[in-house]
This record gives sequence, structure tokens and C-alpha cells, in this order.
Amino acid sequence: MNAPRHRVVVVGGGNAGISLAAKLLRGGCPDVALVEPSHVHHYRPMLSYVAGGAATLDDLRRPQVEVVPDGVHWYPDRVTAVDPQASVVHLAGGEQIAYGDLVLCPGSQVDWDAVPGMREAFATPHASTSYLPEHAPATWQMLSTLTSGRAVFAISDRHVPCSPVGLKPLFMAADHWRQAGLLDAITIDLLVEGSRLVGTARADRELRAVADDYGVRVRTGTAVERIDADARTLHLRTSDGADTLPYDALYVAPPHRAPEWVAASGLATDDSDGFVAVDPQTLQHRTYPRVWALGDVATVDTSPSGGALRKQVPVVAHNIPAALLGMTLREYDGYTIAPVTTSRSELLLAEHDRHGHEEPTVPFPDLARARRSLYLFDRHGEIQVYWHRLLRGKVS
Ligand SMILES: Cc1cc2nc3c(=O)[nH]c(=O)nc-3n(C[C@H](O)[C@H](O)[C@H](O)COP(=O)(O)OP(=O)(O)OC[C@H]3O[C@@H](n4cnc5c(N)ncnc54)[C@H](O)[C@@H]3O)c2cc1C
Repeated sequence: MNAPRHRVVVVGGGNAGISLAAKLLRGGCPDVALVEPSHVHHYRPMLSYVAGGAATLDDLRRPQVEVVPDGVHWYPDRVTAVDPQASVVHLAGGEQIAYGDLVLCPGSQVDWDAVPGMREAFATPHASTSYLPEHAPATWQMLSTLTSGRAVFAISDRHVPCSPVGLKPLFMAADHWRQAGLLDAITIDLLVEGSRLVGTARADRELRAVADDYGVRVRTGTAVERIDADARTLHLRTSDGADTLPYDALYVAPPHRAPEWVAASGLATDDSDGFVAVDPQTLQHRTYPRVWALGDVATVDTSPSGGALRKQVPVVAHNIPAALLGMTLREYDGYTIAPVTTSRSELLLAEHDRHGHEEPTVPFPDLARARRSLYLFDRHGEIQVYWHRLLRGKVS
């Protein structure tokens, strides 16, 4: 077989893949290849602001060629399978690439099968999501034109990237309705699958108080099982049994799943739900030591987020050469973050480890309290950090 061979092959050129490829080059790795089919790169956190009417898709897209680091060999193709015994990846175009180390970061995908009727509902003007770029602008169109009736916001906890940010469109819309004098005419329901709105007890309390102030009816332990798009009705599974709920506007942060080829390639385990079965601390595969994973596709035992990658990228960049040299591997503590707007001008942060213990980036001021400065940084500053530091491997 004459497959080209690279020292490190990175699968997926999203937040994780580009940041890691850049970090590896900075660390002196001589030969990094990237497999990424998309010619457009999205700064996905900004999708929430598109759905909240405070940004456009043009604000968050860049040509992929501008973010692939110089020196990386880019294959503009899609991985269809991995053969970890032979250390080879297979591409949709028929090509094979051999690797020394393989890093998997193809992210996760909306699990359409998990909620029958969701695809049909999103095809109407009455239901939408911020989780798909093609639907994010329609979310604000739907929310901003609602003048009365019932708005339902449903947030799954099944592998949703940074799931609490599903609250951003909710609170931005509620603030809009309040300013327009419409809040009393609109019934707002928030359905959350998990037991909390966010990963820390303190931020959870803050957000419930915010929801209460807008008159939002919060129901935890409640999942959308099926959507009847024609009748505009949700079929729910709650802790008290089955229920139904009609809607005039529906926002969904939908369940996600791993790409199917991960499990088909033998890289998942019975307990990893199809996601890449890595050690959550070292990010090294549990069976194949030359395979690594980070980002939304990895079993890291914490809520996936872009902020989590600030900690995961240096761990993998260190551990790849360290494992070869028999050195001690670095460990990722499960740090993750959820920035949640509480209005159209304020935001709070929930930062925590995989046990839910608070892990603030700075001890002071208290970032778990809503602030104008945090909103401005999240909306305008963070994206500059993303393009100019994170995607250039400038994380340590
Ligand atoms: C609406 C929304 C809002 C968010 N808000 C925040 C936030 O405010 N703060 C925060 O920290 N995080 C946020 N996140 C989460 C954050 O964006 C993700 O955790 C992060 O993007 C994960 O990076 P990733 O590289 O693992 O996956 P992705 O960024 O999804 O990238 C995966 C890449 O892999 C490519 N790919 C897929 N399949 C293949 C294949 N077969 N072969 C090769 N390449 C493939 C894709 O084209 C894509 O480019 C948000 C996410 C969304 C969707």
C-alpha cells in the first residue's frame, strides 16, 4: 500500500482540530496533516447571538483556508473509517492516510432520530434551533415576530455542546419582549432534561432567579420525545409520566450523537454511547495508545465546550510526544464553561470541573454574577481571542 504517511493526522478542522494542529506545530512537530471537508470555518458560540438577534452569520464565518495553520497538510475530504490496527484512516474520496498518532476531533452531530418530527418542525416558521448555522437566523425571525401565545424552549442534556447556551436565545428574547411591552402576552416555558440549568449550583440559582423575573415556567427532568409539527404540539417525557404541550414558537437545543464511523471503527466502547472512548484525563484511547480524541467527540466526562478546549489542547499536545518517550502524561481536570446571557446586555459565566466544583478563571470579580462587561467580552472580544490566539495554538 502506498498511502501517504504523516507523523500526526488530525481528523476535523473545527475548534479542537485547528487549535491542536497549530499547537503541535508550535511545539516542533514536523509533520501534521488535517482532514476537514468544509471550506468554511464557523465560530460556533456566535450562533447563539445570531439566534438572539445580536449578530449575523457573516460575523462568525471565515474561509477554512485562512485558519488552517501554515505548514499543515490539509486533505479537504471526510474520514469514513479508521483502521486502528493498521494505523490508517480511510477518506470518502477513496484515499488512505497512514499515521503515527491519530487525533480525532470531528465533533458531534444533531441526532435527528432522537426526536421524531423535529426535522419537519424545523421546516416550518414555528420551530428552530441555534445549533445549525442554516437555522440560527430563522430562530430570531421566529422569536422577534412573536407578539402573543406560547414560546417553548427545550434543552436536551444528551451530548449537546455547551448546552446551557441554549438559554441565551431565551433570555435575549424575553428581554426583547419586555422592552416591547409583550412579556405579559407571551407564556414562556423552559424544558430542561437535566436537573439543573447549568453545571454549578450557584449559577443555577442565579439563572432560576432570572427566569422567575421574566415569568418563565421552568420544568427540569423534562425531555421532548416527539414533535407533531402540524398540530404544533410537543410530546414530553417528564418525571411524572407523559405530557403534551402546545407551542406557537419552539426553540430546541437538540440531542447530539457521535459520527457513526467512530463506533464502526471499533473506537467506541459499550459505555461510551458511540463517542471515542478515551481516558477522560489523558485523552488517550483506552485500547489504542496512538489514538487520541478531544472536543465534542471525546468521552471527557464533563460538559463539552469550546472553553474546555483551552485545557484539552495543551494536554494532548504534551501527551503525544510524552507517550512515545515514556514520560508522565498530563491530565485534564474536566474544566468547562458556559456563558449565559441574562438579558440583551448582561452575561454570567459558569466555570467548573467534572465534579461540578467551581473553577473560576479569575478569583475576582465574581464571574458567576451577570455583568455588562462579560456580555461585551463574550459578544465582541472572545471571537478575536478565538481567531488570533486559540486557532493559532497560543494556549498553555
Ligand atoms: C450554538 C452553539 C453555541 C455554542 N456556544 C458556546 C459558548 O458560548 N462557549 C463555549 O465554550 N462553547 C460553545 N459551544 C461549543 C463549542 O462550539 C464546541 O464545544 C466546539 O466547537 C467543539 O469543537 P470540536 O472541534 O470538537 O467540534 P466542531 O467545532 O464541531 O468541529 C468539528 C469539525 O470536524 C469536521 N468533521 C466532521 N466530520 C468529519 C469527518 N468525517 N472527517 C473529517 N472532518 C470531519 C467538521 O466539518 C467540523 O469542522 C457552542 C456550540 C454551539 C453549536
